[in-house]
Amino acid sequence: MKCFCGKEGFIKIRYPKTKYLCKEHFIEFFEKKVKKSIEKFKMLDKDEKILVPISGGKDSHAAAYILDKLGYNIELFHINLGIKGFSEESLKKVKELAEFIDKPLHIINLKDVVGKTIEDAKGKKCSICGITKRYLMNKFGYDNGFDAIVTGHNMDDELSFMLNNILNWSIRYLAKHLPVLPAHDKFLKKVKIFYEIEEYLILGYANALNLPYTTAKCKFAEKAITIKHREYLNKLEKEKPGIKYQFLYGYLKNRHLFDVEEDFKFRECQICGMTSAGRICSFCRVWRR
Ligand code: AMP
Ligand code: ZN
Ligand code: ZN
Repeated sequence: MKCFCGKEGFIKIRYPKTKYLCKEHFIEFFEKKVKKSIEKFKMLDKDEKILVPISGGKDSHAAAYILDKLGYNIELFHINLGIKGFSEESLKKVKELAEFIDKPLHIINLKDVVGKTIEDAKGKKCSICGITKRYLMNKFGYDNGFDAIVTGHNMDDELSFMLNNILNWSIRYLAKHLPVLPAHDKFLKKVKIFYEIEEYLILGYANALNLPYTTAKCKFAEKAITIKHREYLNKLEKEKPGIKYQFLYGYLKNRHLFDVEEDFKFRECQICGMTSAGRICSFCRVWRR
């Protein structure tokens, strides 16, 4: 199958029209699409200081690469969680990416912050890890004067979490599936530049550019149900092309339905002083009690 230019196709684009693109035209297509999306949702400004937490995986690496290419002011951030095998492999790829795009990389070891690693955590390691990453990326960005945090979450991530929250009728969480979460209190603005970009396109982009990344999976990962949701959504998409987009854009149109008043006030954590829903924030509850 050939690209419109006559060269051999590198990737098949599935929606809105099926077409094949060569590497060069795919890179151009992808960058245009992401640029348009950033503008449409008013995600970022060129004068903002942006922190890009990178995991070692394709999505956050592609996010860092493209933001730099589009002329945004970014610095990279990585948390070494101390997970045997996985963390060493991730760290190696993170360093390679930083060198590849020649951007400052800040590395934090969980062990240096709390004296322990995810291996030592008692309880559900996967959810503890999520709490830990969200807290440390925000704290680092807040302490160092960043204006925004950009993560590598993609459309498939967002839709699978959304479906999960619908199946549980978690109204409070259903209000939060947005491409931009504005800053409040000591929380920085959070942006998902791949909010409307499907995962296979990001994978294609990372491969087309030979970006360094790892496909290593964390042995503690517990996202079984959302991995399933991703699979049915992609099956449905095959049968009814466009249905994932319909799900996403329909949500954006109807999101106000989930806009319920929070029944608590944010305050400062009594241990660390960061913004918290309760007396002690979830990070300090896990690591400092
Ligand atoms: P995950 O929770 O693994 O799905 O990752 C979500 C986002 O968090 C990624 O796209 C990255 O932007 C960021 N992230 C994940 N792991 C790390 C890490 N170890 N250090 C810094 N950022 C990370
Ligand atoms: Zn071409
Ligand atoms: Zn705290």
